Amino acid sequence: MKGGLSLDRLRSDGQRFMEEISREYYQAASGLKPTAELQPIYARYKHVMDEESLGLVLDMFRSAKAGTPEHRSARLLLEWQAEAQSARELAPLDEQAIAWENSAVVTLPDGSQIQYEETSIEIGNSTDRARRLAIEAARSKVVESGLVDIKREHLQREREITENLGLAADYNAAWEKLSGVALIDLRDQCARFLKDTESMWRDTFREFVPKVLGITPEEATRADAIALFRAREFDAFFPGNEMESQVHRQVREMGIDPTAKGRIVLDTGERPGKRSRAFCAPVRIPDEVYLVLRPHGGQTDWNTFLHELGHALHFAYMDGSDEFEDLWLGDNSVTESYAMLFDHMMQQRGWLTRYTKLGAADVPRFLRAAGFEELQFLRRYCAKLIYEVELYGGKTRWESLPDLYVETLTSATTFRYSRSDAFIDVDPRYYSARYLRAWQQQSLLSETLTTRFDEDWWRNPKAGPWVVEQLFGEGQKELAHEIAARVSGKALSFAPLVRKIEALLG
Ligand SMILES: [Zn+2]
Repeated sequence: MKGGLSLDRLRSDGQRFMEEISREYYQAASGLKPTAELQPIYARYKHVMDEESLGLVLDMFRSAKAGTPEHRSARLLLEWQAEAQSARELAPLDEQAIAWENSAVVTLPDGSQIQYEETSIEIGNSTDRARRLAIEAARSKVVESGLVDIKREHLQREREITENLGLAADYNAAWEKLSGVALIDLRDQCARFLKDTESMWRDTFREFVPKVLGITPEEATRADAIALFRAREFDAFFPGNEMESQVHRQVREMGIDPTAKGRIVLDTGERPGKRSRAFCAPVRIPDEVYLVLRPHGGQTDWNTFLHELGHALHFAYMDGSDEFEDLWLGDNSVTESYAMLFDHMMQQRGWLTRYTKLGAADVPRFLRAAGFEELQFLRRYCAKLIYEVELYGGKTRWESLPDLYVETLTSATTFRYSRSDAFIDVDPRYYSARYLRAWQQQSLLSETLTTRFDEDWWRNPKAGPWVVEQLFGEGQKELAHEIAARVSGKALSFAPLVRKIEALLG
């Protein structure tokens, strides 16, 4: 062992660091503090994220025998350390990107101006197609003149830093080693999913796009997609003043205390500076978890609340005696899958009629729209992963990537994408793979719960305790596919998702 840092110290100080960062983030994003002061925390905990701590964990990883608990712990800690090292070295570029995003202004042909950060909301809200295309064209131009170079350098440097760890021949193989996830296998599954759902997609697209947007399928662009999925058609069925009480009622009906004996604190207060979208901040796992929201109602609001509640329940029902890495680190496909298990309740017919204002007559129309949206997002994410594997793989030249991006995303979603997003529409460190695995996992869990506890498992008082014990209580010590094998005896795949989408569209 080098220097004075021990594994115990790394774990205990690492945990304290995560708790302080999380508390700072919670206080700033909920409006309790004007800004997040992260730099002093980073300075105080420099010793858990420096060359020495990385070296300690790297040694541990190299000397542990594959398949042992030591190896698993070392992998989780190393993944964290590798990410922290890259974040530290790339901080100046991150700051540059944030400064650019905060100050950039987009000028429209009529001379009016929009803050860069508002463009996506403006595009979504534009019912006038000419206006949204004009905003998109102007945004694209501004991005090309600044942000693209910063983001591209970020990606190039991140690849270098990770490759320099010397874990594997290239970035993708190193990521597989660090994450324990079979990336190339997932990429191949994505390609198969795109092929298998191609004709279903084409038919659905031809039905929805002309009807909702009044344009021909051939002319649809990404800006049209953003407007299309703003979907306010059903908002009245999801009132803000009933969201918390109805969702809590449902969670209680499935046998789970929605506040986990008060460990989950619901922050619904109105205050200046509070973010409008719901979020979850685990400040001390499992004892102090904040679920922050401003219930304004509507479909998206309910969806986000359910999603964040899934995260909150996961954190609040973890076993506090577990090690730091099993509580705070690990495969985020796991926590995302529990969040998605909850937000996908909104695709359950019985759930909708019981807890929302949708009547039996409205539900079929709602579910068809949900199926179209689900298929679009899945196809988009599959295409993103396929593209990102090329981007990080290093075999395609950087100059060729924008064309590859447009071709891959456009052919999967039919909406025409723009070259300017090739280095911007990228989930850092393959978070897209975490989401895709979470999607697979939630659909498999939903089928497993249906088999065990019937169609309406979400109100079966036996289902909740099972979920708490078999899933939440295990923290994130297992990989998503290991949990799938343990509780359902199956491998993660797109098969249950295809079945679900066919049922929604059927
Ligand atoms: Zn999430």
